[in-house]
Amino acid sequence: MMQFSYQRSQDLPSALSHIRSARDAKFIGGGTNLFDLIKADVMRPAQVLDINQLPFHEITDNDQGGLRIGALVTNSDVAWNPLITARYPLLAKAILAGASPQLRNMATTGGNLLQRTRCYYFYDKATPCNKRSPGSGCGAIGGFNRIHAILGASSSCIAVHPSDMCVALAALDAEVRVESMDGSRVIPFADFHRLPGDTPERDHNLRDDELITAVDLPADDFSQHFTYIKIRDRSSYAFALVSVAAALQMDNGIIKKARLALGGVAHKPWRRPEAEALLENQKPEQAAFEAAAQALLEGAKGQGHNNFKIELAHRAIIRALSEAAGMEVTA
Ligand code: SF4
Repeated sequence: MMQFSYQRSQDLPSALSHIRSARDAKFIGGGTNLFDLIKADVMRPAQVLDINQLPFHEITDNDQGGLRIGALVTNSDVAWNPLITARYPLLAKAILAGASPQLRNMATTGGNLLQRTRCYYFYDKATPCNKRSPGSGCGAIGGFNRIHAILGASSSCIAVHPSDMCVALAALDAEVRVESMDGSRVIPFADFHRLPGDTPERDHNLRDDELITAVDLPADDFSQHFTYIKIRDRSSYAFALVSVAAALQMDNGIIKKARLALGGVAHKPWRRPEAEALLENQKPEQAAFEAAAQALLEGAKGQGHNNFKIELAHRAIIRALSEAAGMEVTA
């Protein structure tokens, strides 16, 4: 049996001080992924610091006219919060597409950002995995890779990020607020998660001694024309093969602003501003949607079993943009 110590942090300064001085310590909120990883012997923290007593359980207005979601607000409480459903329904829809009600009741906002890939080889210690054990190889490259990346992969790792919530947060241009003993900083969502490169063991740019305290949503209004499409092997409690967050601002039948992010295809939510720019000042028509889909998927490369994802993603993007624009979807 693996031994670890458990402590409950009572306030932010003591939590930050503890994590800086402790060896191999991990913060825990809902624990929905961390305990899976401990049980699978993939992660072996010597200490677990419970942060549920810290004051990050609220959704409040932020200084930019948007909303601040405390890092410990559960996924359920975000999805059903009236401010979120009225102003950021894309986020609510994406969250409700993920996991199960029981998991959403436990999982926290900060923890959702930090959940790790569901690559089967990562969880199977009998196989090589550069993310779990750097330098050991990658079981998925040349192995069974149906769920793996078609964009942004490397010769070290082809894993995908599993979150639905993060795809919506990427599309909404959220910001991640973090604290450490050195002070606070704000990380734009696009810079939070990493591509694998030659350091696939690093999922994100949070330092070991930093704690996520909140996620900020900007004031931009994408509440009228949006959708989140998730394509998966069964209709609930499954990770995305491909997902699309699409949000438009429209004026007199013309797209004025567009946001487009993909899940299930890369090591991080996948966005390309140049694809979104192709939609701006355009009528919501098939040709514009095709151009955006091609730009967003440029360079996509299958790994063998997952080649189907390229065409699937292309069709899903066009369908999502059509739905967001309020057009009739026929296929
Ligand atoms: Fe490990 Fe990444 Fe390869 Fe999966 S894809 S086996 S997580 S290195």
